[in-house]
Amino acid sequence: MLSLQGDFAAHGEALIRSGAVPVYVREREQLDRLDGLVLPGGESTTMLKLLRSENLFDDLAEFGLRKPMFGTCAGAILMARDVTHPAQPSLGLMDIAVERNGYGRQLDSRVVKLDPAPEFEERTGPGKLEAVFIRAPIIRRAGSEVRVLAEYAGDPVLVEQGRHLVATFHPELTMDRRVHSFFLRML
Ligand code: GLN
Repeated sequence: MLSLQGDFAAHGEALIRSGAVPVYVREREQLDRLDGLVLPGGESTTMLKLLRSENLFDDLAEFGLRKPMFGTCAGAILMARDVTHPAQPSLGLMDIAVERNGYGRQLDSRVVKLDPAPEFEERTGPGKLEAVFIRAPIIRRAGSEVRVLAEYAGDPVLVEQGRHLVATFHPELTMDRRVHSFFLRML
């Protein structure tokens, strides 16, 4: 659990409730013993600055070439290949383009019910997925290797590519553990 900024504490509890033992990562040395890494929501520009000042940016990019990573909201922005509105550097681990704060200011926070794709329900259990969006990015482009596991208003909001998973919403803020379980199964 990357724990420099954002809602890593809620994610840590969701991981514990899903049967994992989180390590709260603040230093590069801690990466060596992990099976995977979760990048929380928060403020991606601040997280990026902290990644740079802690010398973690290159290590995370390299970690992502070997091990699964799961990014939510700001974490999704960090994992994207392209970031707009405004543009900023990113780890480029997922072949997606994201527009920050894409839903605009008026509707910047909401809770909705999603119909997940059959392959998500097959692996985690059936039923609608409650999704909390907070100043969320919109995934404007998803490459051919990217699998869409849930959409909202016609845009992908939960996607996987190879060993990685990205959600533009906050699964750690609901009691539904299926998204975390899905990631733990990817480990
Ligand atoms: N709007 C934030 C950003 O651009 C992300 C918001 C969130 O993580 N809830 O970084």
